[in-house]
Amino acid sequence: PKYVYRFSEGDKDQKDLLGGKGANLAEMTRLDLPVPPGFTITTDACRAYLASGEVPEELSVQVTTALRGVEEELGRELGAAEDPLLVSVRSGAKFSMPGMMETVLNIGLNDVSVKGLAAASSDERFAWDSYRRLIQMFGKTVLDIDGDHFSDALDAKKDARGVSMDYELPVDALQELVEEYKAIVKEHAGIDFPQDPRSQLDMATEAVFRSWNTERAHIYRRREKIPHDLGTAVNVCTMVFGNMGETSGTGVCFTRDPSTGRTGVYGDYLVNAQGEDVVAGIRNTLSLADLERLDKASYDELRSIMRRLETHYRDLCDIEFTIERGKLWMLQTRVGKRTAAAAFRVATQLVDEKLITMDEALTRVSGEQLTQLMFPQFDDDSSRDLLTRAMAASPGAAVGYIAFDNDEAVSRAEKGDSVILVRRETNPDDLPGMVAAAGVLTARGGKTSHAAVVARGMGKTCVCGAEALEVDSAGKTLRIAGREEVLTSEDIIAIDGTTGEVFLGEVGVVDSPVMTYLRRGLDEALKAAGDEDTRELVTAVDRLMRHADAVRRLEVRANADTPDDARHAIHRGAQGVGLCRTEHMFLGERKQFVQNLILASSDAEREAALAALLPLQKGDFIQMFETMNGKPMTVRLIDPPLHEFLPDLTELSVKVAVDRERGELDPADEELLAVVRKSHEANPMLGLRGVRLLLTMPGLIELQVRAIAEAAVERLKAGGDPHPEIMIPLIGSVRELQLARERVEHVLQEVSQASGYALDFPVGCMIELPRAAVTAAHVAEEADFFSFGTNDLTQTTWGFSRDDVESSFVGRYIDDGIFGISPFETIDVDGVGGMVSLGVEGGRSTKPKMKMGVCGEHGGDPESIIFFHRVGLDYVSCSPFRVPVARLEAGRAAV
Ligand code: ADP
Ligand code: MG
Repeated sequence: PKYVYRFSEGDKDQKDLLGGKGANLAEMTRLDLPVPPGFTITTDACRAYLASGEVPEELSVQVTTALRGVEEELGRELGAAEDPLLVSVRSGAKFSMPGMMETVLNIGLNDVSVKGLAAASSDERFAWDSYRRLIQMFGKTVLDIDGDHFSDALDAKKDARGVSMDYELPVDALQELVEEYKAIVKEHAGIDFPQDPRSQLDMATEAVFRSWNTERAHIYRRREKIPHDLGTAVNVCTMVFGNMGETSGTGVCFTRDPSTGRTGVYGDYLVNAQGEDVVAGIRNTLSLADLERLDKASYDELRSIMRRLETHYRDLCDIEFTIERGKLWMLQTRVGKRTAAAAFRVATQLVDEKLITMDEALTRVSGEQLTQLMFPQFDDDSSRDLLTRAMAASPGAAVGYIAFDNDEAVSRAEKGDSVILVRRETNPDDLPGMVAAAGVLTARGGKTSHAAVVARGMGKTCVCGAEALEVDSAGKTLRIAGREEVLTSEDIIAIDGTTGEVFLGEVGVVDSPVMTYLRRGLDEALKAAGDEDTRELVTAVDRLMRHADAVRRLEVRANADTPDDARHAIHRGAQGVGLCRTEHMFLGERKQFVQNLILASSDAEREAALAALLPLQKGDFIQMFETMNGKPMTVRLIDPPLHEFLPDLTELSVKVAVDRERGELDPADEELLAVVRKSHEANPMLGLRGVRLLLTMPGLIELQVRAIAEAAVERLKAGGDPHPEIMIPLIGSVRELQLARERVEHVLQEVSQASGYALDFPVGCMIELPRAAVTAAHVAEEADFFSFGTNDLTQTTWGFSRDDVESSFVGRYIDDGIFGISPFETIDVDGVGGMVSLGVEGGRSTKPKMKMGVCGEHGGDPESIIFFHRVGLDYVSCSPFRVPVARLEAGRAAV
């Protein structure tokens, strides 16, 4: 196989093979932008390596050919004694994984070529600094040596020479440092630092392959739902140097502001520095405006390239560039990560600039991003104690205890505390802590620092570069310049990722502007908006939501059991209730009546129990119908296992035994115990519940339907417009539905005759057992509609309990790649989804126009919604909070 592609051979659509970085380097090369020559080793090669543990032989040969090509083009040789060619070895998977994989710069330097570089650049200091960087990076990432050994040696050297900055070290100090670094390598890796340039290249390549499987790479992929079997590509790229003095430098820029979405370019620049210095956020940076002052020609060229890239990719791009002695080089571009707010604004800006259509704009935003915009913000009226103000790196409002390291963040979060991870700066090792924390605060680094980039990607609130902070991670204390107090892990702070403010103590939170929009409409939200950014944001959200509503085929309903929930759902755009559970109507104080019903030994007792329940249920339905006036409302008849209405077997046994001992036994308790014992089930979720309960418990189904019917009549009398749809749960065979349906219709008829109102409500069923899906053509004969209960259907198709997912093997299965993601979160398209397709096809073969929907968690899950759209459902029903997300995703599914 062809394992190696020159940059001039690929293009941006080859991300699977070349990784994102490689594909985009190829694209820029194709566009004739100034990209240093190089080549990409494919993800195929990585997968072959991971499968066999060895580098394929063809790869070595192909690397030689590609390398010779680059050498010929430049007239220099890798690691030669004179004017050596140096390269970087850079990882790059299909999906960008910031900071996950390793990059090694300055490959090709050794004891000889360092002198050649010094001569060629006429800069001895630069050459030795590059060499010590190579050993440091190589030692850390390729040989797995703890980076502290190198940074400690560097710090010690600076102390010894009485300087504070790296670049102040003179040549002889750097030469000493190189020797010390080599000794560190020897001591900790047990080998000499490799002097052979090609070995350096091969070892680094292998290290990139291996880094695909590090723990932090796994964590990141799990979180971002990136499959574990893609592998990474490796890019070998001619080195260009931003650290060749004052006319050199390196930077990162964006074609629009990735944090707010404001138009206008945006970036950070560091003079006399190499790439890693910016990304690591170790020094504070200059802006692009500063670059314009320093080097107008390079700045102008960069601006024109930025515009070109944005037009070419038709999206916000981010760019890494380096200027070597006044010559601009492009090192990376990609469609840039952005905050949720920026995503909505940029999408509509591009529509207005006629670069994309509204349909395309919809694909540029996601339900997940909308969710982030719905999160609350700090209340302007809440009292607050401002500690400091720094860079607003990733929006949101987070409040929590200070956590000084990963372990602390993870363990406290597990205990249920909200924590803010506070670090001087973060690096990829901090990922677990960042995942666990509610927000991240760093003392150093700009908007393109590791903390900022990763937090934005995760939608996590982040404030960075708060220089007033003195973080002592070892001592677990935090001081703030100009303040007395010493904060510890017992103190609460609040960070505002939108303004960059850091507060001491708790701060109250309020609705976000987008939430205000969803609750109260565009006009109100515009009125409430404090600034132009906010107005543009809510306008963008409104435009995209309206477009989604216009194009989507799926109707969006909500799962709501109470009038409050139903109201919330309607405000967020729900077109009906897809699931109104009735079990809560039997809980609390009413449980007693249900117990009476279960225990009834005569018809008279049973009727008394039913009579007591009827007005209560009817009252509930009247309220729901009032709220849902004119909109459909699917009422699911009682579903949970019988035992949920009875006392716990063990507790009651103990009570009875104790009471008997004391001679205080209540005969009623004894009787109850007998019933509880008799109805005890080993697997209640697979037991007497749903339609089985309705068919075996006399009077229950009649009670519920009567309550629905009489409530509807009341509303009709009052001029209301109730639309109940009666739904029978846990159907396995058409016969069950037939029997249940007869009884439902009997009651409807009775109430209809008594009241004089026609009550021809649809009667349908849930499809949540494989048998129902497989026999759907028959079941449909008795059903007016189907609602797929994908939670139970997942449980019954896979045969494992959904109540035990958290604690059981599912986590392990995800780690081992048996599940990509929990099938309770995103529908398992092949298996459970196959059941849904069977159900849809079967049902429609009997009744082509039959209404079908889904209720359950999957109804609000973006990926699942796309599947439900494809399989031909008519609606999804989800929790009220997720209704807007479902509307947007249903729109996205349709374009
Ligand atoms: P990441 O994916 O973390 O951005 P990169 O491979 O882009 O990793 O490299 C890290 C840093 O090294 C970047 O700042 C990049 O610009 C710089 N860099 C990579 N290759 C070269 C090169 N050939 N010449 C100069 N700088 C480079
Ligand atoms: Mg990069």
